[in-house]
Amino acid sequence: MAVDAFVRINGELHAEGVRLTEIAEAVGTPVFVYSRNHFVDRYQQMEQALNGLDHRICYAVKANSNLGVLRCFQELGAGFDIVSGGELQRVLAAGGAAENVVFSGVGKSEADIDFALKLGVGCFNVESASELERLIRRARLLGVVAAVSLRVNPNVDPGTHPYISTGLKQNKFGIPAAAARQVYRRAANAPELRIVGVDCHIGSQISRMEPYLDALDRLLELIDDLNEDGIEIEHIDLGGGMGVTYTDETPFNMAAYGAALSRRLGNRHETVVLEPGRFLVANGGILLTRVEYLKPGFDASYLNFAIVDAAMNDLIRPALYQAQHPVQSVLESQAEVQLWDIVGPVCESGDFLAKERSLALEENALLAIGAAGAYGMVQSSNYNSRGRAAEVLVDGKSFTVVRVRETVRDQLRLELPRE
Ligand SMILES: *Cc1c(COP(=O)(O)O)cnc(C)c1O
Repeated sequence: MAVDAFVRINGELHAEGVRLTEIAEAVGTPVFVYSRNHFVDRYQQMEQALNGLDHRICYAVKANSNLGVLRCFQELGAGFDIVSGGELQRVLAAGGAAENVVFSGVGKSEADIDFALKLGVGCFNVESASELERLIRRARLLGVVAAVSLRVNPNVDPGTHPYISTGLKQNKFGIPAAAARQVYRRAANAPELRIVGVDCHIGSQISRMEPYLDALDRLLELIDDLNEDGIEIEHIDLGGGMGVTYTDETPFNMAAYGAALSRRLGNRHETVVLEPGRFLVANGGILLTRVEYLKPGFDASYLNFAIVDAAMNDLIRPALYQAQHPVQSVLESQAEVQLWDIVGPVCESGDFLAKERSLALEENALLAIGAAGAYGMVQSSNYNSRGRAAEVLVDGKSFTVVRVRETVRDQLRLELPRE
């Protein structure tokens, strides 16, 4: 059953059973508010879709790496997909185990590789022949065996924003399918490595399953070649990227994808691995912000600006990807409905959260910027010396602060003015 994470009750927007007004009063704004039960619900939808297959869901930590969020997926039995040593430390801090982690990323540092090798991560998703050589050298030095998959670039168009396409040949990611067999042979001859899988990740915010099935076909052809070479594959990792609805996008049909995967893979022995990030968390979060000033246009040729206390440093997706996030008032207002640009205090004209939204606004009103659970807080910065927002996790009628608001003291801590 779908959980409506953010619902209007008696005219007031709630997160599950908690009034957003109450959270704003207790924690201040801007604050990211997450619905635990939405995360649980999405995870279970995915479990159900993959029900007929031997599978593993590895939550992509980079979408939302708050420890409270990671703990939630850890409790649900998820594995994790990481792209840095820092993310591995987060997984451990949240109670996760290294053996349930797949380590992706095109530029793994020596330090990160060593750290992951010592802890025994479940699989390195290797993205180049050079990375494979580095991994061999480090494993030899540490006297351990590294479990590896090669990330294949299948050259399929996921039909998404160019910045979040990753499986086209012009992208920096993965090893071209045509070259992968040779690199696998090299891996098979290295006693420091144990080949466990094949991997791809074709992009993000993908709404159709066809690109995945095309990529799967490429991987299956490769596996045939590898089997001919005497290389056995334990798992097929199809990556993440399953899309969600921000405003009017068709959401990814997980049930249909699961059924299609079952048809193609049902009678094979390999485990299917998926690495969902956005799909699990995007719609389970909002950015709660307060209107500081209303600045109506001077005349009809000017725009109306609502200046709020959240900014591009809190949520950069509108500026970076032309993303459209839904915006709602927390309380209903008698004010006249007008078209407003929702902008922050940062000194950039690119500092906007939404443009030309029909809203009834008053100063001090609370706004909820929707679908902010993925790639929101994790891409935040201190631009303009703004402290990072607080984060709150709601569960039913109660909420927990899972990250306190960053102070200026926190920001200055690492800086050393010259004497
Ligand atoms: C970013 C990323 C993911 C998650 O992508 P979503 O679009 O959030 O599902 C999964 N795997 C890899 C390798 C990634 O880089």
